[in-house]
Amino acid sequence: MSDSLFFSTSKQLRTISQKNNIDADMLEAILPPQRVIEVSIPLQRDNGKIEIVKGYRSQHNNKRGPYKGGIRFHESVSEDEVISLSLWMSLKCALANIPFGGAKGGVVIDPKTLSEKELKLLSEGYTRLIFDVIGPLKDVPAPDVNTNPKIIEWMMNEYISIAREKGPIQKDIYAAFTGKPVSQNGLPVREIATGFGGVIVLMELLQKLRMEKKGKNIAVQGFGNVGFNFSKFAEQNGLNVISVSDSKGAIINNNNKPLDIDLVMECKRKQGYLAGCYCVGGVCDLRKGREITNEDLLGLPVDILVPAALEKVINEKNMKNIKAKIIVEMANGPITPAAYEYLTKKGVIIVPDILSNSGGVIASHIEWKQNMESSRYAYEESLAELKNTLTQAVETVWQTSQEKNIPLREAALVVALLRLVG
Ligand code: NAD
Repeated sequence: MSDSLFFSTSKQLRTISQKNNIDADMLEAILPPQRVIEVSIPLQRDNGKIEIVKGYRSQHNNKRGPYKGGIRFHESVSEDEVISLSLWMSLKCALANIPFGGAKGGVVIDPKTLSEKELKLLSEGYTRLIFDVIGPLKDVPAPDVNTNPKIIEWMMNEYISIAREKGPIQKDIYAAFTGKPVSQNGLPVREIATGFGGVIVLMELLQKLRMEKKGKNIAVQGFGNVGFNFSKFAEQNGLNVISVSDSKGAIINNNNKPLDIDLVMECKRKQGYLAGCYCVGGVCDLRKGREITNEDLLGLPVDILVPAALEKVINEKNMKNIKAKIIVEMANGPITPAAYEYLTKKGVIIVPDILSNSGGVIASHIEWKQNMESSRYAYEESLAELKNTLTQAVETVWQTSQEKNIPLREAALVVALLRLVG
């Protein structure tokens, strides 16, 4: 029990609630998931054999609106994990003040072991088994780890075909899933939303902290959707991204010159990895930089460190090497509780994941609204709404942190919990 993720998440929330006078009974009432579904998906493999694959959907809380949360395909998915992540989604949506509750789905599979046909069959099979409990006003799934707009399109199409068998199709049916391809009623801004949102949050906080924005040095771990978009918008806002990494390692330019983010991405796409993509001022040149490890990146003497890849990368083993003054958590849970305690005591400002990476779910809310209204949000309009929602969230967290004299992470959780129990 004590090594359960849900147990440790609940424990953390109990401590924060007690410290901040949140009613214990009311907290206990919102901690457990309202419903957890376990499904057994029959999957016909290409060799004709049928395998049973386990899946889950945890619907944590719908007090503030339909359940909302991604579906991940991973061999380590467990009931405990989806329940904890669904609780986290309730908190994230409450903090962003969008009318969604929290949910999370998972299928216990390594998708790399499946052919495209098998992956499609699995996505459709999972949708069939959760069909009755999802829908635009019930529960709205989205992509997560190892799932993407293509998989969501398969799920959406399966959902529509089952709905059609049951009766006339409602106009708002596309609001049953978010993270759809743009050509299938998706939202163009969704692609950049999480990284873009992280930079909005950072810029707002730098202003509140009265810190100079221009010229701050940044290192970004992870150069996927989130890390790339964060780096790109940070660059556009005058910050210097001097080091980025992928799973194979990190690159840094000589003399800490800022990387040219678009060129680095173009170089990575061409060759398949980052090493050698030392691109400065419009030119990539092997003599301009060097490779370092992901651990080296975490310990760089930068102003801002951005873990945007995996969970628990900053932990008891490496926390003493961290030199950054600000850490922006773009990945989910990149700092372990022990490292969090240590770094906070040292005065490092930690921008919590439920605030800094909430741009994705805020964009999902805009996608959901456009499908509910059978309308289309223009790109600029979506960006403006995303920015406005995030700015308000930062303001509330900042005010709470100042009034109660507590760190940003604790303030974010207090705001979210009060909205959930209230
Ligand atoms: P992604 O798969 O597009 O990119 C992940 C990146 O991390 C890749 O560049 C990969 O090479 C790198 N990576 C993998 N292992 C690594 C390692 N050991 N060391 C360093 N880098 C490594 O994923 P993403 O969508 O960018 O998501 C990144 C993180 O952000 C995840 O924790 C995800 O849960 C979180 N997140 C994503 C979104 C979103 O909208 N995509 C929203 C909220 C949170």
